Amino acid sequence: MTPVARLPFVSSSASFASPEIPRFSVVATAPVVGMVGAGQLARMTHQAAIALGVHLRVLAVGPKDCAAEVCADVRFGEPRDDEAVARFAQAVDVLTFDHEHVPAALVAELERRGVIARPGSHALPFVQDKLRMRERLAEARFPVPRWAVPRPGHERDDVVAFAEEHGWPVVVKAISGGYDGKGVWVVADPPGVADVVEKLSGIRWFVEQHVDFRREVAIQVARSANGETRSWPVVQTVQENGICTFVVAPAPEVDRAVAEQARGLAENIAKELDVVGLLAVELFETDGVEPLVVNELAMRPHNSGHWTMDGSVTSQFEQHLRAILGWPLGDTELTAPVTVMANLLGGSGADAEQVHRRIPAALADPGVKIHLYNKVVKRGRKIGHVNVCGDDPETARQRAARAVRILRGEETP
Ligand code: ADP
Repeated sequence: MTPVARLPFVSSSASFASPEIPRFSVVATAPVVGMVGAGQLARMTHQAAIALGVHLRVLAVGPKDCAAEVCADVRFGEPRDDEAVARFAQAVDVLTFDHEHVPAALVAELERRGVIARPGSHALPFVQDKLRMRERLAEARFPVPRWAVPRPGHERDDVVAFAEEHGWPVVVKAISGGYDGKGVWVVADPPGVADVVEKLSGIRWFVEQHVDFRREVAIQVARSANGETRSWPVVQTVQENGICTFVVAPAPEVDRAVAEQARGLAENIAKELDVVGLLAVELFETDGVEPLVVNELAMRPHNSGHWTMDGSVTSQFEQHLRAILGWPLGDTELTAPVTVMANLLGGSGADAEQVHRRIPAALADPGVKIHLYNKVVKRGRKIGHVNVCGDDPETARQRAARAVRILRGEETP
């Protein structure tokens, strides 16, 4: 890989106690990976970067961003501020992302100036715009739910007509900006349509068929800059109120043929969209003849892959770095028959101090692996996760769930 020209040393000022003592020095031969965004994904990528000797630099919005607190090399700026991102990008070997907020057009402009972005600007629109993703996947004949874009001024009638053709309920989705179920509404009847249409005034959205799924599964594939691909086994994701609470890896009781189909889908989508880095494909498993339907894509490490930190030879964070650097990909074999990941969500009784005080109690089960993000705690926000490896899904799930309940103060050991 040809490194792009590096700027002279710039100190990451804002978080330094003394500007004379830099918190980092760049080893001349160590690649500098610039990650836009400094949330938990950047924080955990930093862990992997340390082991590989990779210099990870993050673009944080503020010093309290959870990766900004642990990375030595932090720059500050908004992901939608062209100048801040451009300044950040010109001094790194590879630019990558911990979220979807950098406009693809800006990334395209940076690429024209010689920046290497992975994933590139040609792939990013498909994770920034759910409608473009649906259109592109359907065009390439990947299975997606049926959808429609209502005509301006005829939204209500068009949604009702769509529901009459495909059945109630229907799902209304914001085209961009949604996460953890925010931006997704299940609408059961015509009065519900009127409500949601009113709520969404000024926002771009579309309507789609409600998929009557048996369960939700996800699969992650890494595609390296040199074209190598490796995937992890398909996992089951369990959502409550639109937010993922558990991931079971590998997904129990998934037919071998379905698992193979999921792998083929993920690898083909990664190739079709020319993704470099990680791709997570969220799927609905149905009872249909073609059981898998694609719901969502992410081109970065993803919540459905946190289990790999303890349950696979190579974690998703390490793999993302290897892939974007064009290095050989790591082994995706399991280290245990099953790993369950349980998300720790903030909420009543789960403020940061209390959670920390409860860590020893949760660790009393020696198989519990805690990953805390040290984020500002807000109700329903993901503030950490727990992994438990084991021999059977149900026991591992119970142990992970118990550790989470202890951390949240809902159970005393
Ligand atoms: P986000 O990524 O913004 O959280 P998703 O599209 O993944 O949004 O939707 C969140 C959850 O809503 C999904 O995990 C699933 O449980 C449910 N959902 C989304 N689309 C559909 C659909 N077409 N049919 C049935 N359930 C859906």
